Amino acid sequence: MAEKKPAKKPQKRYYRKRVELFLLIDKIKLWPSRKGLLHGIKTINMTGDKAQITTHCNKTFMITNSRNSRAARWLRNKWFKGVCGACRVPEWKLAKYSATYFKRQYGSALLKENETDVR
Ligand SMILES: [Zn+2]
Repeated sequence: MAEKKPAKKPQKRYYRKRVELFLLIDKIKLWPSRKGLLHGIKTINMTGDKAQITTHCNKTFMITNSRNSRAARWLRNKWFKGVCGACRVPEWKLAKYSATYFKRQYGSALLKENETDVR
């Protein structure tokens, strides 16, 4: 017997607009492709300011840790036309992402605890 639970809305979360791209994608595990499709990230291998990303649909590519890159902007602005069917991004992940906001003055910069969020 399945228990009926009311659909839980994901809590709103706030990140800084200037949040580091690598920290952000490591957290949300989503990648907006140039074609406007949102892919699920399977692995991120960071080396310095470069990282190799593998998506769940098994595409591998290198990215640079830039807050001003196309992908960083698209992620912040939630610009995507659709979601990659092969990646099977779960609904809860998309719901979480749509409840994520990027603010200039407020939110986590995703820094380690001994670092400060205040700028
Ligand atoms: Zn994909």
